[in-house]
Amino acid sequence: MKCLLCECSGWVCENHPDQPREGEHGCGGAGVPCPTCNSPAEGERPRLPPGFKTVLDDEDGYRH
Ligand SMILES: [Zn+2]
Ligand SMILES: [Zn+2]
Repeated sequence: MKCLLCECSGWVCENHPDQPREGEHGCGGAGVPCPTCNSPAEGERPRLPPGFKTVLDDEDGYRH
């Protein structure tokens, strides 16, 4: 089932938490993990949106 908040990208807009960060409605602002489908458990990291250029590349063990 498609997530209506983030359109399954896993991330919503920080300024518009009811809209996906990516896509036609994205305003290009900062993204926050979707509270519906991308809410990691404590101690876990949220999954990244497809094609996301992470700024955390230098963190060892981030990628799977
Ligand atoms: Zn979502
Ligand atoms: Zn926005």
